[in-house]
Amino acid sequence: MSFNNQRLVLHCDADSFFAAIELRDRPQLKNLPVAVGGRATDRGVIATCNYIARKFGVRSAMSTAMAEKLCPNLIVLAPRFSLYRQVSEEMHGIFSNYSRCIEPIALDEAYLELDSDDWNICAEIAKDIQRQIESSLAITVSAGLSRNKFLAKLASEWNKPAGFKIIRDEDVAQVMSQLAVGKIPSVGGKTKEKLAKLGIVTCRDLQQQSLDFLTQHFGVHGQLLFDRCRGRDLRTVKNTWIRKSISVERTFSNDLVRDDEISAALNSLVGLLDERWLRLKSGYLAKSLFVKIKYSDFSLTTRESAFSGYIHSGEHFSPQQQLQLTSTAKTLLTSALSVKNASIRLLGLGFSVHQGDQKQMNQTDLFM
Ligand SMILES: [Mg+2]
Repeated sequence: MSFNNQRLVLHCDADSFFAAIELRDRPQLKNLPVAVGGRATDRGVIATCNYIARKFGVRSAMSTAMAEKLCPNLIVLAPRFSLYRQVSEEMHGIFSNYSRCIEPIALDEAYLELDSDDWNICAEIAKDIQRQIESSLAITVSAGLSRNKFLAKLASEWNKPAGFKIIRDEDVAQVMSQLAVGKIPSVGGKTKEKLAKLGIVTCRDLQQQSLDFLTQHFGVHGQLLFDRCRGRDLRTVKNTWIRKSISVERTFSNDLVRDDEISAALNSLVGLLDERWLRLKSGYLAKSLFVKIKYSDFSLTTRESAFSGYIHSGEHFSPQQQLQLTSTAKTLLTSALSVKNASIRLLGLGFSVHQGDQKQMNQTDLFM
């Protein structure tokens, strides 16, 4: 079998994403069956659920009424989409530390083209991404590494949650021969039924069929079936992710209380943001500065201040910018603490960004 694509593809998929975020913020529900979705009385449906609820047969897209019948103790939480979008953005921000080519598939799922064809290096990158997401976002992702998108996705689904699997070139023949045709994305119920009527249940069965035979029965879809059952997929990873922010944060082992410790923490975050900003490829403009505070009771607050000038990525902050950023961050922090002055568990600092044109790139004044 020959492979045109030299670079390896990593598929990352957060485990029961919405439910995981809700459980992270409500640890007291951790050992209970929990779902996120609409209310049964409003004919709501389940968006996602945790693995305990899945044991009762609860599934995504099931009516909440049905889910509650299967699992009478099911806790159904209302979705908080703006929070999920924010966590998704942070997760993609982590991906962007490891790959310059990211194709998001859903809020919680993306393909990454890795800059290497070395399986061991790429496996370490995958594990690093998993660790970093778990430590900074407190959710888990499953990851699959392979030669193409189809195989990478197959690998990430292999042993969820928090799973990691590699399908190497030499494993492809064996993996595919045992795979049920229904595991090929785009083989839906109807195609599966039609295949079954032709006596085709596994990918091995499918491999016995000629391209002519498959095209005759499935039209243009025939080529896809012919390729996928052999583990072939020529689709490339398209870099379609648009960065909206960049940030750094620190969780403190002892909550911050005193002004001088808060101030020192903020100064060190400005330094970290400077490093991240330098490493980010050029072409991004910062629109505003935000601070994020998580208090010891886990409540979260953010404050944001827009710039009227521009600061562009790929360079260090100038000493003047450094001073201005620090002073703005302090003002934002003071404003947040004037509403709620409690001990601080986590501090974050970042920019909302957009990709800039050359005219804007020439203006470097900050807070004009
Ligand atoms: Mg997922």
